[in-house]
Amino acid sequence: MNYVDFKSPTQLDEARTLLKELGESASPVAGSTLHVFLKDESPKVAVDILRLGLNGIRLVDGVYHIGATTTVTDMLNHRQHGWVLDRVAEAFVTQPIRNMATMGGSVVRVFPWSDLPVALLALNAELVITGDAERVMSAPEFFATQPFHHLQAGDLLTSVRIPALVEGQGFAYHKERRTTTDFSRCTIAAWLALDDGKIADVRIAVGAAVPMPRRMDAVEDALKGARPGPAAFEKAMQAGIDAPRWKGLHGISDEYARHLASVHIVDVLTKAHEEAKGA
Ligand SMILES: Cc1cc2nc3c(=O)[nH]c(=O)nc-3n(C[C@H](O)[C@H](O)[C@H](O)COP(=O)(O)OP(=O)(O)OC[C@H]3O[C@@H](n4cnc5c(N)ncnc54)[C@H](O)[C@@H]3O)c2cc1C
Repeated sequence: MNYVDFKSPTQLDEARTLLKELGESASPVAGSTLHVFLKDESPKVAVDILRLGLNGIRLVDGVYHIGATTTVTDMLNHRQHGWVLDRVAEAFVTQPIRNMATMGGSVVRVFPWSDLPVALLALNAELVITGDAERVMSAPEFFATQPFHHLQAGDLLTSVRIPALVEGQGFAYHKERRTTTDFSRCTIAAWLALDDGKIADVRIAVGAAVPMPRRMDAVEDALKGARPGPAAFEKAMQAGIDAPRWKGLHGISDEYARHLASVHIVDVLTKAHEEAKGA
């Protein structure tokens, strides 16, 4: 990136006005960690959004509201009933990057290594965009394309909402990598709700091994109403495993990416089920 000026507004309206006026020649900047990966060398004004009061995690009527500039470290350290993003934050590369990277910066541009989009898909998140009017997008809508395409000049992602986990529900997350700081080869998240011993609802999301993070609809459909257990998980996985176009990264074949997903879908479902049972 080629920053030629730096603005540090303290009000959301002020930041939005600046971004609107400057248009293509400006860019919002939160933790700034992505800039090592961006190839754009055109001169840009950086508009810092860290002082707009968009940080913090609040539980309102069973729903977590996570401000866009909340850091991954804040998510890792948060402890409250039904909070599960600490499990995802733990998998997020290294502590120095966790200290800087924010919720907003981690979801507005999606990369194969991105952790939070996969978790947000499984957790049925809503993403709040503040433009001239406020818009709320569901996670599948938001991640259907590179999310920055949803944003006009002056629009900012301001918060993300996720329902807190309640009794009878479970969540699990797995990121397949060779070392703790390695990029993911396959990331899977699952959320599951039990009713009377059966699966009342379930969401499974995959990332890294597919071009964009996505839900595994056919696996979910095969599980709804089923009695959970290894046989049901394996059968459902087989029913939906060939729906995505699998993509091997970092030297693994597409077929091996599919294999990793097949193993870890069953694993995360098993863990989410254990939690839903009260383990
Ligand atoms: C070496 C390295 C390894 C990494 N490994 C991982 C990993 O394993 N898993 C993982 O998930 N991440 C990983 N990351 C982090 C990830 O790639 C991004 O750099 C990070 O998530 C971006 O967050 P940020 O707050 O620094 O955003 P920034 O770099 O400040 O911004 C990123 C982009 O989002 C835009 N933006 C930021 N906030 C908003 C907002 N609120 N509204 C609208 N637009 C906004 C910016 O304009 C910019 O285009 C890694 C980063 C590095 C440097």
